[in-house]
Amino acid sequence: MKHYSIAIDGPSGAGKSTLARVTAEKFGFLYVDTGAIYRTVGLSILRAGVDPKDGAAVAARLPEMRIELAHAADGLQHMYLNGEDVTEQIRTPEVSMAASAVGAHAAVRAFLMDLQRNLAKSHSVVMDGRDIGTVVLPDADVKVFLTASAQERAWRRTLELSQRGAPKPYEEVLAELERRDRDDVSRDAAPLRQAEDAVRLDNSQLTFQETVEALEQIIRERTAL
Ligand code: C5P
Repeated sequence: MKHYSIAIDGPSGAGKSTLARVTAEKFGFLYVDTGAIYRTVGLSILRAGVDPKDGAAVAARLPEMRIELAHAADGLQHMYLNGEDVTEQIRTPEVSMAASAVGAHAAVRAFLMDLQRNLAKSHSVVMDGRDIGTVVLPDADVKVFLTASAQERAWRRTLELSQRGAPKPYEEVLAELERRDRDDVSRDAAPLRQAEDAVRLDNSQLTFQETVEALEQIIRERTAL
């Protein structure tokens, strides 16, 4: 049976994960959140007291790091670090920054490559990240670059944080998001960029439902699904 792969890349806060999850559910595919995998490495490095920016020190920790992922019955992706479920712990702003810093090291990206590719070999997937269409799954059936203005993304993240009971001022959220964008775009190892054959989907002016429909149309146009 053919396994389909749908790659969704784009900057943080564009709504990739919710869109990917809903789309995976619609098509009966596995949703793979690769940001969560980088976050798990970031958490491990923070716990070890290592500077996430120190490439050599981070690389030295990788052999003792066991990163696993499993999908619960409801499709939710759980992350495990050396057997411990860290799904909740990886969602802090501190871990976001650490994930972005460790993701800049080529050794980390190489370390995580097989894990990501093997999932796509054994399942039909909707995989979201920064370099899925460009590096991890260059032969993906559908590639989408999902984006929105920085202001719009910061606004959505501000709302989300306040709904989660961890409010933060908009200006601060925007500054952090712009910094992470800059880091993701300017790094040497697999920088964030749109694949040449990716469809650009800017959802600054779209509702979530409209974005879901736009992606479904893109998928149907490019596959026999
Ligand atoms: O998507 P999310 O915000 O959870 O990702 C956290 C960080 O992990 C990003 O800022 C990015 O630097 C890094 N990342 C990456 N490559 C991916 C997914 C995430 O470098 N495929």
